This record gives sequence, C-alpha cells and structure tokens, in this order.
Amino acid sequence: ARQRRAALRDRSGQLRDGRPVALWANIGRPAEARLAREHGAEGVGLFRTEFLFLDRATPPDEDEQYAAYRAVLAELPDCPIVIRTLDIGGDKPLPYLPLPPEANPFLGVRGLRLSMQRPDLFQTQLRALLRVAVHGDIWIMLPMVATPADLAWARAQLGEAAAALAAAGVDHRPDPPLGVMIETPAAVVLADQLARQAAFFSIGSNDLAQYTLAVDRGHATLAARYRADDPAVWRMIELAARAARQAGIPIGICGELGGDPNAAPALAGLGLDELSMAPASIPAVKERLAQITWAEAQAAAARALGAEEQG
Ligand code: PEP
Ligand code: MG
Repeated sequence: ARQRRAALRDRSGQLRDGRPVALWANIGRPAEARLAREHGAEGVGLFRTEFLFLDRATPPDEDEQYAAYRAVLAELPDCPIVIRTLDIGGDKPLPYLPLPPEANPFLGVRGLRLSMQRPDLFQTQLRALLRVAVHGDIWIMLPMVATPADLAWARAQLGEAAAALAAAGVDHRPDPPLGVMIETPAAVVLADQLARQAAFFSIGSNDLAQYTLAVDRGHATLAARYRADDPAVWRMIELAARAARQAGIPIGICGELGGDPNAAPALAGLGLDELSMAPASIPAVKERLAQITWAEAQAAAARALGAEEQG
C-alpha cells in the first residue's frame, strides 16, 4: 500500500478511468500549508482563519492578516487557496467581541452573521484578502450563508473594500472568486439562486449534517444520530451538486466527510469537483478514487442516496 501511495503522490487526483477529482487540503494555520504540499494537495479547499482571532485581547489588523495569508501562498504558490472569512460565534467568546449569551448559539450569531454585526472586522479581513489576491489564486469563502441576501450583502462589502483600497492607492485584486459554504438546509434549498451569484460552492458537511438532522454536532448521547453520511445529508449534497452543475460553477466539500475514503466514491459519483480534507487523509482518499471507475462512483452515489432501501 505504501508503494502504491508513493506512486500516486505526484499524480493529480482521478478515478481509474481518468475522470479528475481534485484533492485539496484543509488547514487551520499557515504552518500546515507545508504539510498540505508534502501530502500532495493540489490546492487548499478550506483555510480556517479563526486562529488569527482566538487567544488574544485585540483583533488582528490588516497587515497581520495579510502576512498570514501570504505565508500560505508562499508554500503553495501555484494552487488555488480557498480562504474562509471568520467563522466564529457565541459558543466561542472573544474578549474584544462581547456577544450576549444565546440560548442556541448554533442557531445564533455565527459565521457570516457575526460579520454582519461587525462589518468593521469584516472590512479589515476583506482588504487583507484583496491585497493577497494580487499574488496568487485566492478564493474567498463565506461561512453560514443561509439566504441569497447574505451573499449579496457580502458581495457589496467586497466592493466597498476594493473601493477603499483603490482610493488609498493600494495594490489589490478587486474581484477574486467569492463562494459560499453549503452548510445550512436553506442554502441547499435555494442553491439554484445562490449558484447564480456565487463563484463556487463548498459543502460544509459537519454543519450541514447538524442542521439537516437537527442533532448538535458535539452531542454526547445523540452521537449515533449525528452522521454526515446519513441518506438525508447525501440528498442535500446531491441537490447542491445539481444546482452547481446547472449553473456551471465548481463544487467541493470541506467537511469531515470529504476525507473519508469510504465516502469518496459517492462524492465523486455526485459530480463533486474537489474533495478537501486534513492533509494526512489525502493519500488514502486518492488511492481509493484511483481504484474505481466513473460508473462505479455513480453506483456508489445511488446507494448513498438510498436508492435501495436501507435497514
Ligand atoms: C463544516 O461545517 O463542515 C465545516 C467545514 O466547517 P466547520 O467544521 O469549521 O464548522
Ligand atoms: Mg461549518
């Protein structure tokens, strides 16, 4: 197995009969970009930026963020890098961001909703991202989008950030790809509308499973019910993939399901363009995909969707 994986190491991800499925990495710190490269990642499908904001008394300024994003590019200069804007909420309090306690933090002010309450923080992050985008293939990804209005708001914010940089004479790219995580049932149901405005989709299966199944993703005694590979979640993924295909935009997955070799055939069979996962998971997923044909992947997808009744 080790030899087979070594042979696949420098080959791009694909099925046995050649259909490409890109294998990208999830990272949470710039230092992990090197690990991604060493494991053969062809891109970064999720760079979580929370690390910049946690464990400190004040928020990171534009230059500090710029340096962190630039460091990832330096490691993977020719790869697409999907950077997610701040995804934090009432369950993780920050000293400089007092939020009122909420009865249901997962249904409260988190992800993009927090950015809407603190556009000053969002503007700083967007300016840093637009500056870095001059130097590489930076994609900006929005967490916890539930409505087309959420995306429209973020796009207007991006326009504001670009205008501010232009007015100050700062080098920037005004229009990098702006995409959304598909991690709420509302985003799935309105995926056709979102796909007309978004440059790409990425399935956040961790939250999508939680909200679809109505089970807290960290619940101690309901853990058996929390399954990202539940047929209900697979059907959600299929709906999003169909909307992406119809609109002609790429769709990937960056939740844990994307790094599960047993899920890889069905994910490929639903037509996902890209699977993003912990760097260490890439070799096993790549190997699994190399063993199956497109027809087998489609059969796996049909089974996952519950085409045959499950017990
Ligand atoms: C997800 O929800 O699947 C996801 C990738 O985001 P996070 O785990 O950071 O919420
Ligand atoms: Mg999420």
